[in-house]
Amino acid sequence: MSDGATIAVVGGGLAGITAALDCADAGAKVILLEVRPRLGGAAYSVRRDGLTLDNGQHVFLRCCTAYRALLERLGSAGLTRVQERLEIPLLAPGGQRGVLRRDRLPAPLHLARALLGHRPLTVRQRLSAIAATAAIGRLDPDDPAIDAQSMGRWLAAHRQSARAIDTLWDLIVLPTLNVPAREASLALAAFVFQEGLLRSADAGDIGLHEAPLGTIIGEPALRALQRAGVEVRLGWRGSALEARERGWRLSGGAGTQTEALECDAAIVALPHLRAAELLPAQAAEIAQRLRGVGVSPIVNLHVVYDRQVLDAPFAAGVDSPVQYLFDRTDAGGAPPGSQYLAVSLSGAVEDMRRSVQQLRDRYLPAIEELLPQARKATVRQFLVSREHAATFRAAPGVSALRPGPRTGLPGLALAGAYTATRWPATLEAAVISGHAAAQTVLRDLGGGAPVASSVPGAPGAAGAPGAMPASAARSHLAAGARA
Ligand SMILES: Cc1cc2nc3c(=O)[nH]c(=O)nc-3n(C[C@H](O)[C@H](O)[C@H](O)COP(=O)(O)OP(=O)(O)OC[C@H]3O[C@@H](n4cnc5c(N)ncnc54)[C@H](O)[C@@H]3O)c2cc1C
Repeated sequence: MSDGATIAVVGGGLAGITAALDCADAGAKVILLEVRPRLGGAAYSVRRDGLTLDNGQHVFLRCCTAYRALLERLGSAGLTRVQERLEIPLLAPGGQRGVLRRDRLPAPLHLARALLGHRPLTVRQRLSAIAATAAIGRLDPDDPAIDAQSMGRWLAAHRQSARAIDTLWDLIVLPTLNVPAREASLALAAFVFQEGLLRSADAGDIGLHEAPLGTIIGEPALRALQRAGVEVRLGWRGSALEARERGWRLSGGAGTQTEALECDAAIVALPHLRAAELLPAQAAEIAQRLRGVGVSPIVNLHVVYDRQVLDAPFAAGVDSPVQYLFDRTDAGGAPPGSQYLAVSLSGAVEDMRRSVQQLRDRYLPAIEELLPQARKATVRQFLVSREHAATFRAAPGVSALRPGPRTGLPGLALAGAYTATRWPATLEAAVISGHAAAQTVLRDLGGGAPVASSVPGAPGAAGAPGAMPASAARSHLAAGARA
């Protein structure tokens, strides 16, 4: 590739980190600009009241190969653990327990026994759920007509009762799509079921982060980027992007100091609504589409008990407002003898409006219903983290709005979990999108595709806008003061 070309990557989440590493690997001079004082974007940790909290519980699946490969590169994969086989402990009020576990049979038989044994449903409902699971496997997630449909209508048409939706379908859909199954895009739901559960027996084995997200993502990413020669500027806000005769001018800066950076290519790796603000006038149509993509919130409760109340690394609530519970005692640094549970609440539109006291009043009794040991325990800490725009809203029609990495403007690409990777807003989507954006600008700069050519979701050559003249592939980063 055009050695020495300068590429600016705006946004230091997983998409920006991945794109910056790929561009540096290809020989570019890369500068990564991130407004916050740390890398990792939507997946981060904070210290609060003596605990290290993740802003939200993040899990991944065995089939998240791009994300897992990135962690290998960062050297932090060893701080994660993938289940030997999919197993979700289920907790119901009154201390009742169950489990959703795959068999060692090939797909799709690996799930048959789990569904047949799903006790919250009648035998007839279980058989009907198996038929619907097989039917979802036959849908084409890339069909616009499927994207336009809600999963709720489809489930009703496939005779899934309200109870089946609440106690089975939402166990998968809520945490992966961050909207309830009734409101979800059928295309995204079909993709998750096919890729995450049906394509191979082990695809859906769950991966857990056993250390804080900052230790697994943000901190090692900074070291890896610096080793790769990327200049990382933290606390730097991008505010405008303009096309130059050759390349791009990115304005922004840290605090009140503003500057303009000239670069040959730029990758905008921001959340979608921020990207819409930064994109240049020539990309107005993309910006308009991005403004049509909604957001969906996630609330996490961080509860420290004075003793152990949960005897599994994580569990799901059934017939309970508690969705998923995770034991974060070690990762969060809770005092010996205590147990720190993180309660993850996806699609949490109503919980976003509740005060801390209201959340306490609603969820502590609900946890006690699921975990009888919690009734005898004392709550030492109760903290709340809220992410208003945790993910894009995976509503019907959203796939039609998601842009690819190409903007149609040579040397300008988009990266982010919201771009058209086929995945919902996940760690995996962000990493795939970063590879795709890097490949796009490297091609535009006149190079081949030295990286990520086998990455799913990476852009093909078809439809590529004209390559940037080779002469533009010269480094001319010039940071000048701007009032
Ligand atoms: C609470 C929560 C729970 C989640 N749970 C899961 C899960 O279990 N599994 C899963 O796979 N995914 C999960 N996700 C989603 C996952 O975290 C995201 O899809 C992914 O991290 C997005 O990465 P990104 O790089 O696309 O965007 P981001 O991480 O949003 O990165 C964008 C970056 O741009 C920066 N930025 C914004 N404006 C500017 C500007 N003007 N100039 C410079 N920088 C700017 C931001 O600070 C940010 O660092 C969860 C998300 C949240 C919030």
